[in-house]
Amino acid sequence: MEDHSHCFARPEAREACGVFGIYGPGEDVSRLTYFGLFALQHRGQESAGIVVSDGKKFAWHREMGLVYQAFDESTLSRLQGDLAIGHTRYSTTGSSTLANAQPLVAEWKGGSIALAHNGNLVNALHLRAELEAKGEHFEATSDSEVMLRMVVRAANRTGDVPAALEECMKRWRGAYSLTVLTEKAAIALRDPYGVRPLCIGRLNGKAICFASESCALAVIGADFVRDVKPGEMVIAGADGLESRQVETSPRHALCVFEYIYMARPDSVIEGRLCYEARRGLGHQLAQDSPTAADVVIPVPATGWPAAIGYAERSGLPFGEGLIRNWYVPRTFIQPDQRLRELGVRVKLSPLREALKGKRVVMVDDSIVRGTTKRGVIRLIREAGAREVHVRISAPPYRWPCYYGVDTSNRSELIAARYSKVEDIRREIGADSLAYQSLEGLLEGIGVPRRKLCLACFTGRYPIPIPRDVKLSKLDLEERACRRTPARTRK
Ligand code: SF4
Repeated sequence: MEDHSHCFARPEAREACGVFGIYGPGEDVSRLTYFGLFALQHRGQESAGIVVSDGKKFAWHREMGLVYQAFDESTLSRLQGDLAIGHTRYSTTGSSTLANAQPLVAEWKGGSIALAHNGNLVNALHLRAELEAKGEHFEATSDSEVMLRMVVRAANRTGDVPAALEECMKRWRGAYSLTVLTEKAAIALRDPYGVRPLCIGRLNGKAICFASESCALAVIGADFVRDVKPGEMVIAGADGLESRQVETSPRHALCVFEYIYMARPDSVIEGRLCYEARRGLGHQLAQDSPTAADVVIPVPATGWPAAIGYAERSGLPFGEGLIRNWYVPRTFIQPDQRLRELGVRVKLSPLREALKGKRVVMVDDSIVRGTTKRGVIRLIREAGAREVHVRISAPPYRWPCYYGVDTSNRSELIAARYSKVEDIRREIGADSLAYQSLEGLLEGIGVPRRKLCLACFTGRYPIPIPRDVKLSKLDLEERACRRTPARTRK
């Protein structure tokens, strides 16, 4: 486990956001949205916001911090209405300020509109420049504001928000799962590649909800209906649920990291329970990379399902070898080498009785910088383990994401610094190390290759990245690499 700051999310490869929406006359929509966001907290911990409509006007509240910090009784009771959308944010474009907190709200000639976005547009800079040339001024720095301004302009022209969204979808390139609010409708839409998840639920037979993940539906007692289809727009209002297939694409490209560790294990995405996908990764890993050992232990909590799968397939006993302190706050560990190593001991304690004299297989889902893993292996050895064999349920990731996941700088990724697994093994101090192969990943997850984005592993991006966007990111990384020679970085 590498610096997990939250039981599911991790700071070095962070999810962009969680979105929620509800059309629920007669329901306490702000509280339901609050609980929905609570279930989506792992997707973003920087800010949270809710916008409600009472059919005539909006009320909203946005705040920096976790969902429970952003809202209290008095803010929630002020948000009265029949429809709402909500958002939890981790910034991938735009800085971490209240101005960038979502949902964003704007006026158009027919009323108000609010928008909550998960993903990242790859052509945002071009679209922004185009709007600025037309005299548009921006208050925030996120691509989501570009989207909102475009919708407002289109709505002013067409006189209709869904028609405006349809028009904008034809121009947006990249990843977007959106919930949108007007005075009378809650709308959900997903980019034609379906990079980020989004699903539909029904509550009490009547209310319609939208959420990034099905775990947010379960928490409010809503039934899962289906995923929003890639390229689809779904409108929930007084006339019920209307679906429009706005865009199509040559293929789908759901982010494979949703299955590996981003989504909550109890979420079902495109028909696959994430817990089962992770367990399947463990099965595959045991089959492809067996080792003689006495016990299989997870790095809590992200390594659990894969470790269980590894133990099941290998026939080795599963055990708890590391106990996690769940109360280490997000800001506790600064991104500094010395503190990172110390932080391992604050977060994890070895269970000596389970490790002493044992040959241990330690299962996790990734090695990012390698420093934390080295610290964990040292802990296990100090507790008396004879051997430590590391098994990673995903392949080494080497390429940056342009679709809304803030992966570490390439210069920090151990798999980008070392091309040989043996070098990484030596660096982290394990007795053996094996990653999942790409084929093993697909087999383990059980989702066809043509439906997934695998670009972090392959460097092949399903949605073309504009040359200048690609160059600017790689250029920044190259410069960072040059500043810090790989061999001297720890
Ligand atoms: Fe996910 Fe990587 Fe594709 Fe980004 S590039 S969407 S993180 S698989």
